[in-house]
Amino acid sequence: MNIILLGPPGAGKGTQAGNLVRKREMLQLSTGDMLRAARTSGTEMGQRVADVMDRGELVTDEIVIGLIDEALDGEKAAGGVIFDGFPRTLAQADALAELLAAKGHTLDAVVELRVNDEALVARITGRYSCGDCGAVYHDSTHPTKVAGVCDHCGSTNLKRRADDNEDSLRQRLMEYYKKTSPLVGYYHAKGQLRVVDGLAPMADVEAAIDAALSR
Ligand code: ADP
Ligand code: AMP
Repeated sequence: MNIILLGPPGAGKGTQAGNLVRKREMLQLSTGDMLRAARTSGTEMGQRVADVMDRGELVTDEIVIGLIDEALDGEKAAGGVIFDGFPRTLAQADALAELLAAKGHTLDAVVELRVNDEALVARITGRYSCGDCGAVYHDSTHPTKVAGVCDHCGSTNLKRRADDNEDSLRQRLMEYYKKTSPLVGYYHAKGQLRVVDGLAPMADVEAAIDAALSR
């Protein structure tokens, strides 16, 4: 099964992708994580996208489509993929449809995590994650069980993102509404959209996604 998790920054895509990976052994493809990894390892592309990401703008379609194209050729993609943070523009959505068709895969569902802007500031400013396994936490709604130690892998490498501040979030939300939210109508028109209440507690969102995927 190949699915897209759609929603603004802070909607809970990474959190729910993590749940799906643990339960269904699917592969999470997060373009945000891939771009951050390129920055950390200091590649030429990583250096080129750094300023754009820090401003909360979108990097070019060409770069992220290239990343997804390459990742889909990996062995792990055959067991099912969760697209997290991709596609973010109509051009990326069209490119994804072409890539999947060319590789003989299908897109099975698009789950929109519907939230409102007020909830997002609190979610983004309280977010931290494990630098080793990628598990996502929150200062108040979902802290680690033992302070400073990842519940899933035991790492103490817990990090906050440089772009998780109110200024960058404002820009990222603007980008979402201008460029990504048209994808809701696009996938609705294709009969692939399933809407889940992303404001519900994490476990309820998880159950709603399971129900949406078994429909
Ligand atoms: P996204 O990947 O869509 O940007 P995340 O999964 O990183 O969003 O979630 C953003 C923050 O909100 C994290 O700190 C996470 O722990 C928290 N969070 C996620 N889902 C919920 C929820 N249903 N209720 C409360 N907090 C949540
Ligand atoms: P995210 O981790 O999904 O919040 O993404 C962090 C940043 O990476 C975004 O603000 C963009 O600058 C960039 N980015 C991630 N995915 C995409 C994408 N599909 N298209 C364009 N830019 C992206």
